[in-house]
Amino acid sequence: MNMSTTNSRGDPPLRVMSLHALAYCRRLFYLEEVEEIRVADNRVYAGRELHASLAADEEGERAQLELTDPALGLTGKVDAIRRLDGSLLPYEHKRGRCRKGEAGPEAWPSDRLQVIAYAALIESCTGQTVAEGRVRYHADNKTVRVPIDAAARAELASAIAEARGLRASTERPPVAENERLCVRCSLAPVCLPEEVRQAEDPSREPLRLFPPDRDGASLHVVVPGATIGRSGEEIVVRTPDGGPETRRAIRELDAILIHGHGQLTTQALHLCVDHGVAVHWLGPTGRYITSAATAAGPVQRRVRQYRALADEATCLRLARALARGKIEAQHRYLLRASRGTPELREAMLPDLVLLRSALASIDKDGDRETLRGLEGSAAVGYFSGLARLLGPSVPESLRYTTRSRRPPVDRFNALLGFGYGLLQTAVMRAILAAGLEPSLGFFHTPRSAAHPLVLDLMELFRVPIWDMVLIGSINRNQWDPTADFAVTKAKVWLSDSGRKKAIGLFEARLDETWKHPVVGYSLSYSRTIELEARLLEKEWTGEPGLFARLRLR
Ligand code: SF4
Repeated sequence: MNMSTTNSRGDPPLRVMSLHALAYCRRLFYLEEVEEIRVADNRVYAGRELHASLAADEEGERAQLELTDPALGLTGKVDAIRRLDGSLLPYEHKRGRCRKGEAGPEAWPSDRLQVIAYAALIESCTGQTVAEGRVRYHADNKTVRVPIDAAARAELASAIAEARGLRASTERPPVAENERLCVRCSLAPVCLPEEVRQAEDPSREPLRLFPPDRDGASLHVVVPGATIGRSGEEIVVRTPDGGPETRRAIRELDAILIHGHGQLTTQALHLCVDHGVAVHWLGPTGRYITSAATAAGPVQRRVRQYRALADEATCLRLARALARGKIEAQHRYLLRASRGTPELREAMLPDLVLLRSALASIDKDGDRETLRGLEGSAAVGYFSGLARLLGPSVPESLRYTTRSRRPPVDRFNALLGFGYGLLQTAVMRAILAAGLEPSLGFFHTPRSAAHPLVLDLMELFRVPIWDMVLIGSINRNQWDPTADFAVTKAKVWLSDSGRKKAIGLFEARLDETWKHPVVGYSLSYSRTIELEARLLEKEWTGEPGLFARLRLR
């Protein structure tokens, strides 16, 4: 029987698997069912009792059956139904081990609730009473019996009521008290329970439940006129000069970045959308143009973001944290880079004073406009100091004079702008992965194609992800002022060779691992951006105080 329907109140039925999640952790239920966060990889539900792959051809056993009962408000797919002595029995297969109870093997609470729910569905669909359900644990070869008695029925009724209550709530439940559950939870990288616990107890050293590296690589298409097409499950890039094709399996990618005028076919775009691979278009100077990416999270999350960022006090609090994070990073970088060279430090003092003075004023009275002014005066000091970090061997043509953006008028600004364009795409991906709406920020005002929240979050990463890399590469004489740039009277941008070098440096930096100074574990810069986007979302979901705490050492 398979009826997809709603109950008398118009609620869609609860999935039995959602009750399994509820019995495991109320927050897990909420993240999956209300916020619709599902981890789309092989680890789905891994770490919990894993769903059995069914042979299901044992005698008398009927393989997977989908059942729905509108009155009960439940729907689910039972692993198997067996007829024993004239009665029907729901069977659940689990790859893991059973629970060791005082009186012998027991079903885990989540498995127990699941099999009770299937028993109720079988009863309502067949009209026959089900007296027992069974859970088969394959790892220790044990079958546990679950009596379907009055206590079991009451347990199911209470779970359904709790699930409905949670589904109607806008409050995300707190993290599980039992920390061991989190270690095996597939949603730990989204939930970030250890970071939440650390915020409550700063002396705590969180376990790293967040993945250290990114899942896929970025494919950059820089050749003008290149065509990005599809062949089966691969992306195929062909260049107009008939050169060798580049082929990449879609599963190995997390993004495609098209620089300049590459052509993406509809078939390739469909493949990217199906696999959640973002496509970003950048201008020849690296300026961000637009993205085709999976939309921001479901309504609940967006509503919370709108509500929070419509509140001036929340925006001001977040803007202060962001400005502090950004200016402290600038200040620390200048201090660090001038350490051990007293002449340089002395020359830099006026720049450092500007940064310190901006830092000292952040918490004083003032609105976001005041903060933007402080950020501006800090930037004057920072870029002046940054120019001093270029060593004596750097040619005049690569030196910094003044900041120019659209268009960049010298090589240094061309490099700076190109890297920031790449950073913008990386931050956009992280924001979408966290289910945030990029158009609604708290510090930057909306303008052109740039999404304010992306610009906000970028502020934390300009120094560590691009400025430091850029200064290092210039001081190592990695740039050819002639071959790596295209120069006209009006503007300067990177040539093909310059773009390839910049992309190589940027991607290598994203993959570089560092020890996060607050959470204390190591992860790549790419994952650090995603972590920060997820921590930002917690600012308005009942766990504030975690955002913008990362600092350069
Ligand atoms: S990580 Fe822990 S608190 Fe978060 S949903 Fe999973 S079990 Fe619950």
